[in-house]
Amino acid sequence: MHRYYCLNKNAQTNGVHEVHRLGCRFLPKSEHRINLGLFNNVQEAIMKALKTHPSSKCCPSCLEYDSKNKHYFS
Ligand SMILES: [Zn+2]
Repeated sequence: MHRYYCLNKNAQTNGVHEVHRLGCRFLPKSEHRINLGLFNNVQEAIMKALKTHPSSKCCPSCLEYDSKNKHYFS
């Protein structure tokens, strides 16, 4: 099960760029996103985001979504 992930172009106040899945309620507007592509989970998306934005972290809501839905696809 692949999902599409995006990186928030704008850093949070703590300097962190958040990675979101498409459909996340905290997903930034399209002009504030960097598209990362399709991944199995947010950890894989983070790996790609870190190459360009070393302070990337997963959005807590997306992380929770991943852990809840993992059971259905593994
Ligand atoms: Zn999110």
